[in-house]
Amino acid sequence: MVDVTLVTGDGIGPEIAEAARRCIDATGAEVNWDVVEAGLDVMERTGTPLPDATVESIKKNGVALKAPITTPVGTGFRSINVHLRQSLDLYACLRPCKSYPGVRSRYSDIDLVVVRENTEDLYAGIEFELAKDDTAEIIDWINKHSARKIRSDSGVSIKPISVSATERIVGFAFDYARKTGRKKVTSVHKANIMKFSDGLWLDVSRQVAKKYPDIEFEDRIVDNMCMQLIQKPELYDVLVLPNLYGDIISDLCAGLVGGLGVAPGGNIGDNTAIFEATHGSAPKYKGLNKVNPTALILSGVMMLRHLGKMEEAEKLDSAVAAVIAEGKSVTYDMKPHRDDPTAVGTSQMADAIIEKMTM
Ligand code: NAD
Repeated sequence: MVDVTLVTGDGIGPEIAEAARRCIDATGAEVNWDVVEAGLDVMERTGTPLPDATVESIKKNGVALKAPITTPVGTGFRSINVHLRQSLDLYACLRPCKSYPGVRSRYSDIDLVVVRENTEDLYAGIEFELAKDDTAEIIDWINKHSARKIRSDSGVSIKPISVSATERIVGFAFDYARKTGRKKVTSVHKANIMKFSDGLWLDVSRQVAKKYPDIEFEDRIVDNMCMQLIQKPELYDVLVLPNLYGDIISDLCAGLVGGLGVAPGGNIGDNTAIFEATHGSAPKYKGLNKVNPTALILSGVMMLRHLGKMEEAEKLDSAVAAVIAEGKSVTYDMKPHRDDPTAVGTSQMADAIIEKMTM
């Protein structure tokens, strides 16, 4: 048995968490679930959206499957998701984007992996608000030391990119490529404009690439990357990006394979990994047994691979693919028309996936 934390989340979280748990159990993977809470529901009862017991369980087990969590307003947490990633140092956000026949999409043969740096860049949260004393001080200092001037009526966000964090994430992308038999890593940047942040990213990417002569390496400027991904996505394999570009490009790639309902993800550090769907808690669908559980189930497939349970992962992945390809027992969002009366509910789609594995 392997111990795994299951964070049930809120909104649609508990329904899709239950669907994913049943599917994973049906693979025979022998997971011992430690079920814990986070989000609005537990906040209403206990006053905190992220109980210590939840964080302790994730730390102890080192692996979690997490359903979405609403970001409650005014709790002292900017976002529970961001807080978890930062406090557990989950520096890599991994988003495989693969086409499943039967999912409605403009493309049919996508197989990309996006590796996003999770800890720095413009998302470091170092910001200076318009008209505050600190902001004026920073602007004065910069105007004294730089040939370029910042207007006094500005807000300022800082973009740090470090050698150590870049080495670590680019190394992660290459290790992942090697482990999964992928051929190429593309480092994405805007080094032609931001020479000291993205320029550093590119230099370090090139240095790290030298240690992996068996994997092809190239770089792309981020705007060109967007166009290329739309025009010829088949040229790319593993993409590694700083935080902001990674956020944008991973949604672009989710769009290439059919959207949020089928986009899984993992946030991974050296000691801990949390697997979760890309989508949020969709509160308007809470308790309706309506939404698509696929993204969290596929996050479960990633988790099984991370745990070295390859056979179980393939079994679940094939069952999901078969149910989607058949197009019968799928949720409303996977039907040609959203009001299709033959759409099934969240738990019935999970039942159909489980049935495929026992056939
Ligand atoms: P959302 O992803 O929750 O929902 C946007 C829309 O996408 C929904 O109204 C629905 O139409 C559709 N959708 C999402 N998931 C679906 C599914 N599984 N099946 C079918 N349709 C689906 O985004 P939002 O409304 O911007 O965010 C709601 C809350 O979730 C916010 O508080 C946000 O902070 C939080 N959030 C959490 C996470 C996370 O836990 N990792 C990620 C994103 C957003």
